[in-house]
Amino acid sequence: MKILVVEDEEKLASIIQRGLAEEQNEVTVCADGESGLKEAVTADYDCIILDLMLPKRSGIELLDAMRAKEIHTPVIILTAKDSVEDRVHGLDHGADDYMVKPFAFAELEARIRSVARRADAAQPILLSIADVTLDPIKQEVKRGDEEIKLTSKEYSLLQYFMTNPNTPLSRKMIAENVWDVTFASYSNVIDVYVNFLRKKIDCDREQKLIVTVRGVGYMMRDPDRPID
Ligand code: CA
Repeated sequence: MKILVVEDEEKLASIIQRGLAEEQNEVTVCADGESGLKEAVTADYDCIILDLMLPKRSGIELLDAMRAKEIHTPVIILTAKDSVEDRVHGLDHGADDYMVKPFAFAELEARIRSVARRADAAQPILLSIADVTLDPIKQEVKRGDEEIKLTSKEYSLLQYFMTNPNTPLSRKMIAENVWDVTFASYSNVIDVYVNFLRKKIDCDREQKLIVTVRGVGYMMRDPDRPID
């Protein structure tokens, strides 16, 4: 694994670096919050071990800044601050785990494995139907090689269609899943949005993917998957 250690206590940093390197990890150490942030956003790490009290930029500031840039690398805070408030504060700012110094090295290793495993499992998947792809990380939609710009509602609507291919979706289901409202007078709104989306996805295309299901609502057809 590639691990970033942001720690200003030189001795501790080198103990962690040596220990993790012995287990075949590739370890980089940064001694302040500024250089740590730069590393965290430019290189691709599997896990970040983060001290809180750091020169130039605190651990929490680093965490906020990287999460604001949509960097979702798992972070384990490693600090001498051990109050419940500190722990809650760290986790609220997007840390994945929290360890208090002094610590047992084996436990740190176990926690690194655990957050890395969870991060793998939570990896959002690229959706694809025919030549339409939706990348949930970049929030990018393409048909073939052409990027299609969608509004956030159109995007959510397409994502709902693509996670339920070949399934007729009623206006009620769409309202509850995409608009997060109970179905009342949303019927027209949904028709309008489905038409917007169709124009962007299907217009001028020979293969129409979003179809009307009479008496039910709408469906996204996946030509490569049988309808069951
Ligand atoms: Ca420190």
